[in-house]
Amino acid sequence: MPTVEEMKKDLFYNPQHASKVCDDSVRESADAFAEGYKTFLDNAKTEREATAVILAEAQSRGFVEFCADKKYAAGDKVYFVNRDKSIILAVIGKKCICEGVKIAAAHIDSPRLDLKPNPLYESDELALFKTHYYGGIKKYQWVAIPLALHGVIIKADGTSVEVKIGEEAGEPKFVISDILPHLGAEQSKRTLSEGIQGEELNVIVGSRPFKSDEGSELVKLNILKILNEKYGITEADFLSAELEVVPAFKADDIGFDRGLIGSYGHDDRVCAYPAAMAAFDVVDPDYTAITVLTDKEETGSDGNTGLQSSYLEYFINDLARANGVEGYRVLSKSECLSADVNSAYDPTFNSVFEKNNTSFLNRGVVITKYTGARGKSGTSDASAEYMGKIRRMLDEDNIVWQIGELGKVDAGGGGTVAKYIANLNVDVVDLGVPVLSMHAPYEVISKFDLYMAYRAFKKFFEQ
Ligand code: MN
Ligand code: MN
Repeated sequence: MPTVEEMKKDLFYNPQHASKVCDDSVRESADAFAEGYKTFLDNAKTEREATAVILAEAQSRGFVEFCADKKYAAGDKVYFVNRDKSIILAVIGKKCICEGVKIAAAHIDSPRLDLKPNPLYESDELALFKTHYYGGIKKYQWVAIPLALHGVIIKADGTSVEVKIGEEAGEPKFVISDILPHLGAEQSKRTLSEGIQGEELNVIVGSRPFKSDEGSELVKLNILKILNEKYGITEADFLSAELEVVPAFKADDIGFDRGLIGSYGHDDRVCAYPAAMAAFDVVDPDYTAITVLTDKEETGSDGNTGLQSSYLEYFINDLARANGVEGYRVLSKSECLSADVNSAYDPTFNSVFEKNNTSFLNRGVVITKYTGARGKSGTSDASAEYMGKIRRMLDEDNIVWQIGELGKVDAGGGGTVAKYIANLNVDVVDLGVPVLSMHAPYEVISKFDLYMAYRAFKKFFEQ
């Protein structure tokens, strides 16, 4: 007769801290994998930079540019870059493409502040940039922290200039001011969501006037003179630019035991990086393995670099056609892991979570069966059959996993790219990494969970 404890072990679902179910070598592998990830975070704070870093890595690993009309052989490795802001990696499988492909889909855009088209102005001898926030942010978190400016400017003559300033030692940084607490009595009566308002997210970029005895807006003039000397631009060039204000922090270990990583942009680089590494490391897959790193998820996946665009579908159509197969027939037999983050349980703000269905830091990758809000509205909701398949896959290789739902019922909600891929008639479920302080300028993840995501994507491609 088994004891009660033995029966519980057999019958209860009991997700555990990865260190309880893994030996030390797994922890060491996770720590080693995290070092590469931290470097990636520091070098890839925007979708353009992430695309460029992954492209360079792909090329160094023998991936070649995809040619739509070519028929590829098993083992061939190709990439497709969409407008410098999203990238597809593919390793051609041994099976006929008519049997479907395996897709891992992550996003490489993160919440941030974009410059407005006409951003620069002077007010009371300070020069500032007007911004329009991108994605879901808590605006009060973006004041009084060091900021950097990243992006690209297309000049009047059509040439482009890249901007990346505020990251290297010795470079100037930027900042948004806040009211001092001594004078914050009125501000503190605002609700938290109104504590800092959108039109108050003005970035200080200068304070010294151009030397002249006459004229107004001399601080602004001086900034434009500096920008003209450094980048060869005039004020009108801001109109044809994509300039993104991001936190100037670097990625760092968190905690005395170094088990966590704090950084800007874990959502969703913490899935994009392992999904790309899985595509790099997969050897001779049966099914064609495709990693897509997309843009625009944080604003609803609209736009031609987001996954509501047809670029992934067209890519698969081209692969299919070269093999004499219709693209829709490939898609209909394909499977996808929508590689996105979920909210990690926060002991300090526990009231928004339902503990039995929430992901925890360090309990491995989180499978999110459905997202959405208000009665699962706007979700693809993975089937029991596909959940069962993914679960078996993870258990087979002792990949530590847990289930998670985005908070309590009706506490809020959210979505991922899963539904857009599901709409292509692909089996899909969200599988990613739990994040603490999601969408904050400095988010937190666990090294164990990051490494389990890598192992999950690699196994998905190899099975
Ligand atoms: Mn995300
Ligand atoms: Mn997000």
